[in-house]
Amino acid sequence: MLVVMQEGATEAQTEAIINRLVDMGFTVHRSTGVRHTVLGGVGPLEDFDPALLETMEGVKECHRIVSPYKLASRSFKPGGTVIRIGEVEIGGTKVVSMAGPCSIEDAKQIESSAETVAEAGAQVMRGGAFKPRSSPYSFQGLGERGLQLMRTAADRRGLLVISEVMDQSQIPLLITYADILQVGARNMQNFNLLRELGKIRKPVLLKRGIAATIEELLLSAEYVMSGGNYDVMLCERGIRTFETSTRNTMDIAAMPVLHRLTHLPVIADPSHGTGKRDYVLPMARAAVAAGADGLLIEVHPDPDRALSDGAQTLRPDQFSELMQQVRAVACALGRSA
Ligand code: PEP
Ligand code: MN
Repeated sequence: MLVVMQEGATEAQTEAIINRLVDMGFTVHRSTGVRHTVLGGVGPLEDFDPALLETMEGVKECHRIVSPYKLASRSFKPGGTVIRIGEVEIGGTKVVSMAGPCSIEDAKQIESSAETVAEAGAQVMRGGAFKPRSSPYSFQGLGERGLQLMRTAADRRGLLVISEVMDQSQIPLLITYADILQVGARNMQNFNLLRELGKIRKPVLLKRGIAATIEELLLSAEYVMSGGNYDVMLCERGIRTFETSTRNTMDIAAMPVLHRLTHLPVIADPSHGTGKRDYVLPMARAAVAAGADGLLIEVHPDPDRALSDGAQTLRPDQFSELMQQVRAVACALGRSA
């Protein structure tokens, strides 16, 4: 159920609607837009007649949300969500860049990566401390020590930090060190993890699963949001298809499709999306041209010696070239980067 309040509706009128919805068994989520307050009622009363609420004072319109996801639906927040972390806005006019190595390896590697990321003008430093590797014998990440190293390197240069949380037990550690918690493709449907992330008040970047539809991605976002954490951004990182020339098939159409279906910011990860260094720059350009609000890019001082994902990781000079080109594309679209 979606109730759009009139422009200038009073707090008392809004409260009255909230109370009415609660009495009817709905859980109410409130979104305050520039003009209108929108109340999203999630509840069991599927056969409830929206016209019953429309006669109440202060109500502009009321309708049932037909999509299976409610809070993630564009109609809940037509103007779009902007996630603010300090000075950085994700989902605004500026295309936000998040970059760094696949895994945090040691102090020297992460310091040098942070230098590259900051110098090229990106805002957020990435690096995995807990790695979801296909083989249990591959490097699994440095854990807390890695997070400490990345936080120090990022703070020295005024960068924000994003890192992956693989399991609910890691949430306390991640919220201590990171500004954004990444849910990896393999965990997109780890519903227990998603529910726990709904209880925290830090932004979550949710990656699309390797075989997930866009609707499934949005339903996973709904898990986090229904817990009360609305700061969710979605990440297209390629899906598995019959094509073998690239590691995954980067779904560029996901950018406009998601913008139509949801108000949440959309981030593109052309590193995992292609799996090959040479294709990262053209796909980063394409993603921004298609409307991505941000990029997630792997860069390493010496990618050929990286402990994970070296083949898709850019060298520092390639990353600064990418930033310049992405800036030109963003500028052509009336955005900045
Ligand atoms: C990563 O960002 O390094 C990663 C493991 O990504 P994904 O979950 O998309 O494979
Ligand atoms: Mn990686």
